[in-house]
Amino acid sequence: MASRVCNFIDPHTKRSCPNLISKDARGGKCPEHQAVIRAERWQTHDRHVYTAEHRAERRRWQRRIDRGEPVHCWRCKTPIRPGDTWHFGHRDGLPSLPECPPCNTRDGAQRRHRT
Ligand SMILES: [Zn+2]
Ligand SMILES: [Zn+2]
Repeated sequence: MASRVCNFIDPHTKRSCPNLISKDARGGKCPEHQAVIRAERWQTHDRHVYTAEHRAERRRWQRRIDRGEPVHCWRCKTPIRPGDTWHFGHRDGLPSLPECPPCNTRDGAQRRHRT
């Protein structure tokens, strides 16, 4: 029985989550935000190391693209050429790889809809 709302406050928008939850929901959060909190706790520890490595890795790819090496979006195989905008695609549990903006946007939209 839904009796109150999730107590999660979005750190970016400062708005609380409107999802209704049952009285005994763990942490007073909807399942979606219980997962968010779990993921954050898990990540905080090596986020610093991770972002530094991620950036270094992205720079390595950028150099390869600038040199004109054949680099493709790992999703749709669109070639990424020097001067193109590209994203460093996040792959759950796998090394990040370059991806084209349309694929990156599509993935982001899917993530938001997945609950
Ligand atoms: Zn929530
Ligand atoms: Zn693509």
